[in-house]
Amino acid sequence: MSSNIAGKVVVLTGASAGLGQATARHLSALGATVVLGARRADRINALAAEINAQGGKALAIVTDVTQFAQVQNLVDTAVKTYGRIDVMLNNAGLMPHSPLERQKVADWDQMVDVNIKGVLYGIGAALPHMKAQMAGHIINVSSVAGHKVRPGSAVYAATKAAVLMFSEGLRQEVKPYNIRTTVISPGAIDTDLPTSISEADVAENIKKFYDEYAIPAGSFARVVEFAMSQPPEVDINEVLFRPTRQEL
Ligand code: NAD
Repeated sequence: MSSNIAGKVVVLTGASAGLGQATARHLSALGATVVLGARRADRINALAAEINAQGGKALAIVTDVTQFAQVQNLVDTAVKTYGRIDVMLNNAGLMPHSPLERQKVADWDQMVDVNIKGVLYGIGAALPHMKAQMAGHIINVSSVAGHKVRPGSAVYAATKAAVLMFSEGLRQEVKPYNIRTTVISPGAIDTDLPTSISEADVAENIKKFYDEYAIPAGSFARVVEFAMSQPPEVDINEVLFRPTRQEL
């Protein structure tokens, strides 16, 4: 059991796969209570059952982060069930890369709705509880793409740059309430993320890149652990990390 993690109530969005799933397992093994939000009931129910069977504490709540009422329900149910919320991990996201000239308007809309508005909704839902507690930790997931744009990644990069920017605004706003804020920007990690790409040629290139460079999801979970496990007076505001071999 790691100090500053055991007993904490952690709400995670996008917990059905990839980084969210790996982090739920990792934090649970360190003694945290995890509240799993995602759209796919079968997957989060199975993950909650697995964690509970191993002696952990997990609750699954079907949540589409594009619906504020559902995100509020996720957070409010966590607080009703466990009495508090210590960490809100706004992780759900998707990355349907394509050049702008292909007019993938539905993909643009979805990235704005999930990657930007979904994170804002998580912040909005968690803040009233954290203010009342005079404690809490909001962790938002950006990306290396929030720092560097490439052809084909314009919209995704813009959504991740937005997360960096409003996370810094949030950091300053919540000073009076003793709330910590962290934004994590990972490089290529081996998850289902590239499957959100709908253009075949773009998907093939990204797959090659991930096959060559991607590192396991545990790398991200350990960064969350690092930020969470600091003593209360230490606020890790930003972590940018990549596979050692990743150049860009
Ligand atoms: P993933 O596709 O494996 O998981 C994404 C999760 O988000 C899934 O559980 C998915 O169901 C969920 N999700 C998508 N839309 C949702 C919605 N409307 N409501 C609720 N949940 C929704 O990908 P991942 O790599 O685990 O991605 C997690 C986060 O990490 C994303 O924000 C992504 O942009 C970011 N990220 C990933 C990488 C990487 O290389 N894997 C790199 C940088 C940043």
